[in-house]
Amino acid sequence: MALMGQMMSAPLLISSIIKHAARYYASTEIVSRRTEGDLHRYTYRDCELRARKVAQALGALGVQQGERVGTLAWNGYRHLEIYYGVSGMGAVCHTINPRLFPEQIAYIVNHAEDRYVFFDATFLPLVEGVAPHCPNVKGWVMMTDRAHMPADAKVPLLCYEDLIDAQDGDYAWPEFDENLASSLCYTSGTTGNPKGALYSHRSTVLHSYASALPDALGCSARDVILPVVPMFHVNAWGLPYSVPLVGAKLVLPGAKLDGASLYELFEQEKVTFSAGVPTVWLGLLQHVNANNLKFSTFRRTVIGGSAAPPAMIRALEALDVEVIHAWGMTEMSPLGTSCKLLARHEDLPEDARHKILEKQGRVIYGVDMKIVDGEGAELPWDGKAFGDLYVRGPWVISTYFRNDNTPLVDGWFPTGDVATIDEEGYMQITDRSKDVIKSGGEWISSIDIENVAAAHPAVHMAACISAFHPKWDERPLLVVVRRPGMDVTREELLAFFEGKVAKWWIPDDVAFVTEIPLTATGKMQKLKLRDQFKDYKLPTA
Ligand code: AMP
Repeated sequence: MALMGQMMSAPLLISSIIKHAARYYASTEIVSRRTEGDLHRYTYRDCELRARKVAQALGALGVQQGERVGTLAWNGYRHLEIYYGVSGMGAVCHTINPRLFPEQIAYIVNHAEDRYVFFDATFLPLVEGVAPHCPNVKGWVMMTDRAHMPADAKVPLLCYEDLIDAQDGDYAWPEFDENLASSLCYTSGTTGNPKGALYSHRSTVLHSYASALPDALGCSARDVILPVVPMFHVNAWGLPYSVPLVGAKLVLPGAKLDGASLYELFEQEKVTFSAGVPTVWLGLLQHVNANNLKFSTFRRTVIGGSAAPPAMIRALEALDVEVIHAWGMTEMSPLGTSCKLLARHEDLPEDARHKILEKQGRVIYGVDMKIVDGEGAELPWDGKAFGDLYVRGPWVISTYFRNDNTPLVDGWFPTGDVATIDEEGYMQITDRSKDVIKSGGEWISSIDIENVAAAHPAVHMAACISAFHPKWDERPLLVVVRRPGMDVTREELLAFFEGKVAKWWIPDDVAFVTEIPLTATGKMQKLKLRDQFKDYKLPTA
């Protein structure tokens, strides 16, 4: 006969995280750069009280459990209060990426059926443009105080601080099924309309536990953590949950994400740990190196969202900052793998250690992965065979929000990434399947080419895309932004590849540009680049 365990049954709810932080790390600080221009500081105790007031205010506005509440906001304390207030009361916190096109934002708000949308002052013009196209939104809440409310907005607005002030905070977080929806993020939608990933309380709490582990992000109460990755992009990789879970001090940088502003905040608040996409670190590194600066406390950072170029990993190491290369996606809450060495790697020569650290890493417990060939047969873990990467686990989506077609194949989620896995389980992304360059039936990894180019001292940013070739079908074209004040020719760059990649991988040409378009989440927008270069005539063609 089955014998049941005899432990208390406590649902894994997001409210329990902020309750825990308020009770056991009551005086630990949350510091935010506000759109009002100043630095705001308060504690976890203050944050939880105001999150309760948000929940009360939503109740007063008639928001029901399961209904969606949108946000268009930077990383800041009010956004954090909304994260907990909305999910904590049983509604769904829908973070919207303000960098998307207004039409996409309207589509997302309507598709999600957001009842209210909270937004930072910066996004008032955006809201004024989008609101007329979102007839089902009952109210737009500007996240500021009465003194900063605009006198002549084109849409009726509610004031965040007024809503909070009207509540007394006498509110007990409700208990409910841990499988209820808690938050919603849409994919960037580079092809077709964005699709929604609907997380649950359970998936979020499990993801927070796992991502805080030492060999994952490794968050501790002793850390001061600054997520540069926005709270509107896959919940800032879960840090707004895992940081209070461990009780670390949280620093939220607001809208100023340039190198100088970030450096100032890192130093002033004694940040030890951060996380962001590679393009952010480009700006910070440039500022630090150009001004001969050092970091006093900053020691570790997670880089993900796109491949971290090896040259960037080394440049940060030279500043005593350890890089944890991580991989994941919106559909995975987002963390899948992170790259840390095992004890047996410590004695390897430096180059061999770096080869490992450049990979996207090993799965964290909770995620299972495999690579398969075109027929779906599993490929060996030898670090050489590459194929489509599939994942599964309790924080991987099973279906998209309000979409009947299952994305799963035999219970696995196809990530759309192409990868290798080595004997020790280290996964390396070789490409996004649609970015891979198919030269005469053989595949060339655009990421490998970009990584070599990024190591050249005169290269600021490089993207490798396919260009039409009459014989090979596709050949690599390297698109390069030069570092300010530095020069390099096409021939010098191509010569730089000799001996670093197979001869037939060397790009056929280099195109110098002043800017590479970025997506709403800070990744190189290759679709747009390919479009820009669609009639490009290779000299080899
Ligand atoms: P998103 O859902 O916007 O977070 O995008 C997820 C996609 O970003 C993944 O499927 C990968 O193609 C890419 N990605 C994320 N992290 C990495 C990484 N460390 N290296 C290479 N690609 C990455």
